[in-house]
Amino acid sequence: MDRVIDKVALISGGARGIGAAVAARLHGEGAKVVIGDVLDDEGQQTAERIGSGVHYVHLDVTSPQDWEAAVGAAVELFGALDVVINNAGVVDFAPIEDYTLEQWDRVIGINLTGTFIGIKSSIPALKRSRGASIVNISSIAGIRGYEAISAYTASKFGVRGLTKSAALDLGRYGIRVNSIHPGVISTPMTENVPMDMSRVALGRVGHPGEVANLVLYLSSDESSFVTGAEFVIDGGDTAGTVTPADGSR
Ligand code: NAP
Repeated sequence: MDRVIDKVALISGGARGIGAAVAARLHGEGAKVVIGDVLDDEGQQTAERIGSGVHYVHLDVTSPQDWEAAVGAAVELFGALDVVINNAGVVDFAPIEDYTLEQWDRVIGINLTGTFIGIKSSIPALKRSRGASIVNISSIAGIRGYEAISAYTASKFGVRGLTKSAALDLGRYGIRVNSIHPGVISTPMTENVPMDMSRVALGRVGHPGEVANLVLYLSSDESSFVTGAEFVIDGGDTAGTVTPADGSR
């Protein structure tokens, strides 16, 4: 109930999916939480559903002004900022020969540049924390390539590298920076994407709450010696392939 009792967390893309599950999990362990998203109605409802001590702000992660306001809201409302979860993300499908520059710029802008701005904007407040942690939500598409999502894969590899550089730059301030690499998780992002999990060790998709458990660990002081690291949470997807239960190959 109190694993992050003294902490204030800011979560981008927190209106739904993994971000909403993270907000609920951190709140359940005592944190004060600011949710930021571009889905204002859904974000407001999510904050109200989770309970008191959760506040919604409009946050387009591509906007430095929005980030400044979101960090300011956390400090003003709850007196500090200790944890930043760079979770907002989008995917856009097309083979690379058909991928437009507009598609590329949008995905890189939100997933990678948005994470960069989020880190930069929160540094002054995080420097004042005694246990600061930044958690960047990458993907197993930041570990290996996937067809028809070139910008997504590039952005998630970028988040993985950005995490390591930021960890090196910010360690001197006691700010830890780590990346999480989920496999397929059941959220609105994946609901219309056909998935065959029969060759994955655990044979199923993951749930947002399972990712939230890992975010909780990295947000808490239990992970006080962990920085610059990458955490795969994919049911064994990147470990290799298994023979499906029906024996097909
Ligand atoms: P989701 O359900 O689509 O939630 C992401 C949230 O971010 C949405 O509310 C989305 O709103 C919001 N968002 C989009 N652009 C934004 C912006 N510019 N500023 C702020 N918020 C913005 O997706 P999810 O599955 O929970 O994904 C969360 C993170 O996990 C993403 O970084 C994703 O890449 C990563 N991830 C997901 C999976 C998976 O299988 N679900 C696997 C690996 C990694 P809109 O509706 O406007 O897009």
